[in-house]
Amino acid sequence: MPQKKKIMEKKQKAVSKQGKMAVKPAVKKTPGTSERPQQLKGVKDILPKDQRYWERVREVAKGFANAYGFGRLDPPLLEKADLFIRSEGEGSDIVQKEMYVFKDPGGEETIALRPEFTPSMVRAYYEHGFTHKPQPVKFYTMGPVFRHDKPQSGRYRQFHQVNYEVLGSQHPIVDAEMILLAHSFFAELGLQTVIQINSIGTPESRGKYIKVLVDYFKNHKAGLSEQDRERLLSNPLRVLDSKDEESQEVLAEVPQILDFLDEESKADFMKVLEYLDGAGVSYNLNPRLVRGLDYYTRTTFEVWTQEEEGGRTSALAGGGRYDGLASALGLAPLSAIGFALGVERTINAMREKNIVPGDPYAPEVYVTQLGEAARKKALSLIEKLRTSGVRIAEGLAKDGLRPQLEQAGKLGVQFAIILGQKEILDGTIIIRDMENGVQEIVAQERVVEEIAKRVQKRNMEKDAQDRQVVDRIDESVLEQNDTDDAEEDLTT
Ligand code: AMP
Repeated sequence: MPQKKKIMEKKQKAVSKQGKMAVKPAVKKTPGTSERPQQLKGVKDILPKDQRYWERVREVAKGFANAYGFGRLDPPLLEKADLFIRSEGEGSDIVQKEMYVFKDPGGEETIALRPEFTPSMVRAYYEHGFTHKPQPVKFYTMGPVFRHDKPQSGRYRQFHQVNYEVLGSQHPIVDAEMILLAHSFFAELGLQTVIQINSIGTPESRGKYIKVLVDYFKNHKAGLSEQDRERLLSNPLRVLDSKDEESQEVLAEVPQILDFLDEESKADFMKVLEYLDGAGVSYNLNPRLVRGLDYYTRTTFEVWTQEEEGGRTSALAGGGRYDGLASALGLAPLSAIGFALGVERTINAMREKNIVPGDPYAPEVYVTQLGEAARKKALSLIEKLRTSGVRIAEGLAKDGLRPQLEQAGKLGVQFAIILGQKEILDGTIIIRDMENGVQEIVAQERVVEEIAKRVQKRNMEKDAQDRQVVDRIDESVLEQNDTDDAEEDLTT
């Protein structure tokens, strides 16, 4: 048998073998279960159409980190469960019911899927000798975190956070700097937010407050929801930020933590507020904001969207000072502050406000081909276009020009390149402007340069248009503010 024929036969056998395997069901059918695999409750696929939002948030996160000198530190998804138990406290919701914990298969360790970043950042700070670096040290990271919470709108079991931490300074200016960062972050995305701020003092002053709080709640037990009565036993502070309707009357009259602050915490808090006033950041003093984790000390804060004020709340971001965390882990004392923002909730807020970021991945040029020779040529042309920095879509596997141009239209590309039998023969190529249908013939060896030039020009024109739109929006906001001010003047 000739060599070539033998090879072909071998190839065919391999293909039919693969074919046989492919028809085998991927999942064995178990009676009573659906055959089609589905995602778990509380977790979500992030689809290509949604990526523009994710990319925008990531881009802003990196922009702020680079501007303010935060180094990226990505901790692992898995840690010893003990790290979180000791950090957050046995009574915290996260440790009590939300952490994904399992025994290391074949090992002794109890492992947790990270429910947040902060304890890992502190661990890494010590583990990699950042104590010897100039202080404070600034870290940021982003990625998925996991909490076995009841899934509902805006609450997922796998969600994503962007996290900023400043470790190694007790100065209240750092608190103000972090709050300003959080506020500016959302403004950069086009979201107006309100900062909620409180101080929960030191563990000692908080201890005194908790005693008074527990007495108050015990005297008003009948006015608390069942869940809050349970919380009262495990983590009384947590009752303070209860959203349960039933408990709101009792909560309205609750003693305030600010009245129990030690002198130093009080002075420190005044300083934070003074710095925020100086930076022009508006905030709401929220004496019920205690954030339920043992490690927080002094400043705690959250970022709410404006609509949430006084109504339904789901914070976009939250954080605070955690001067007690390192000691709880048996490490040398460390003053630090950080915050995390929820990416899903941020994106939901952007959608609610109709903020649609440009798609950084949208293809700019569609390469069409007609006939086998053109198909071959198109394959290498695509590679050349890619190296020139143009984003491409192609119809390589399609036959006929019409379906390719239809797809190009649907994708909204700026230009289509048409390479047919005639063009192959005379060494040319057609560039079709998809906006106005105008077609130009150029020499094949010049096509990459010509396309790159046109795409760049079109992108610059689009940027200029976008800037004009933003300017117009800014002007109308200013005009509206002027009107509001004038109305206020009349009423005062
Ligand atoms: P926390 O670490 O609990 O302070 O949360 C910080 C931010 O993460 C919150 O303000 C939310 O934006 C987000 N977040 C917290 N829990 C969830 C969740 N279960 N699902 C989605 N986002 C969450």
